[in-house]
Amino acid sequence: MRNPNIYNTFEKEWPFRGYKNFSIGREGWVYLQDYKDSRQFISFLRQDEAFISWFKLKGLTVGLSEAGRIAKQVIDSLGGMWGLNLFGDEISIKFVNKLANSTRTRSRADNDIVLKEDFSGRAASISEWQKMISKRKAQKNFLRVNLSDYIKRNVIKIGLETDCSYCNAKNWHDLDEVSYQVKCIRCLKHYDFPQGSIKKNNQNWKYRVIGPFAIPDYAQGAYASLLTIRFFTTFRNRDTSSCYSTAAEIRHEGRTFEVDFAIWASDESDFNASPEPRLIIGEAKSFAHDAIKNKDLEQLKEAAALIPNSILVISVLKKSFSKDEIDRLKKFVEWSRDSSSYGPKHLVILLTGTELFNEFLSDCWKKKGKPYSDYTDFHSTRSLESLSDATLSIYLNEKSYYQWYDEKNRPQSGT
Ligand SMILES: [Zn+2]
Repeated sequence: MRNPNIYNTFEKEWPFRGYKNFSIGREGWVYLQDYKDSRQFISFLRQDEAFISWFKLKGLTVGLSEAGRIAKQVIDSLGGMWGLNLFGDEISIKFVNKLANSTRTRSRADNDIVLKEDFSGRAASISEWQKMISKRKAQKNFLRVNLSDYIKRNVIKIGLETDCSYCNAKNWHDLDEVSYQVKCIRCLKHYDFPQGSIKKNNQNWKYRVIGPFAIPDYAQGAYASLLTIRFFTTFRNRDTSSCYSTAAEIRHEGRTFEVDFAIWASDESDFNASPEPRLIIGEAKSFAHDAIKNKDLEQLKEAAALIPNSILVISVLKKSFSKDEIDRLKKFVEWSRDSSSYGPKHLVILLTGTELFNEFLSDCWKKKGKPYSDYTDFHSTRSLESLSDATLSIYLNEKSYYQWYDEKNRPQSGT
């Protein structure tokens, strides 16, 4: 009985409390022969329970943040990691984000009141959706996604759009509420459904994004964090049942730290098979030009200090980091490598849209040419250590950890 993603060989009280008649060795759990006639029932922990109780064991309280709950709704609606194919590129994510609701903040100079206005999202026609999907297919010719998949996964819903006969505002009506008389959401007046002026080519029929997909700012970062989770849960074809958590708040001694994802990884390429699974935590951002700020990195350092040996991942949906981000990240990597013994305090891995939008890492790096193509051999993309060295070199032009360590510890000439 050995699930490489969640095995735990030293802690008898976790994850299965009250189950004692076994010993634990390299082979996993051994049920002693003295008990061959007795029965024990075991039930596996739910994914979220496993996470919460594991953190508790380390003295940390953890719970999903608001962004984490939204990301969970997104993945539940998509029916798991496979469903992320609906959002597997820049085209689809930007298209849906444009249709999502928006919030506009206005401050009134006269009395310092900040007004927050919510706008419901724009509806898009069948042809706009089909155009987006064809654009995606032109980029990835193996893509098997159709308009009906977005409907089935509750990303969009059809309705009828009319123009208000008083104020000309566009109103979108759910099929359950549409009637011969409809109400304008802007001027609140009732007007007749425009039976005599139906638009050509089904242009009254419009799709609106619904549920968590209608939340602004890329569903509060859900796409970036879920694509990062997909990257690690499918990395080296690991099975997708790996344990992970969407954005979470970690509480410790009165302080709260937010991480955008937490993923358990057991590095099986490492033949000494360290029994303790390693936790990946990190920050995920969407497309902003200068997204990774010092305060994000400081917060990640503090969260990392609570979880020794954790792997720190910074991921963005854009294709590269800005000059300022590179400066900040270089300092961050220096901090992560500085340790009293051989081996970095924390491994750091950087990911961009190039890695997150492609399921076959070495193929896509090969196609991108240098410097990516220097890291496409079996070794470079196989372990988390080599993935760290490869991505730090590609995006920050950093030396490998080994070279870095060697240069730092080389005796100075003349001494
Ligand atoms: Zn109106």
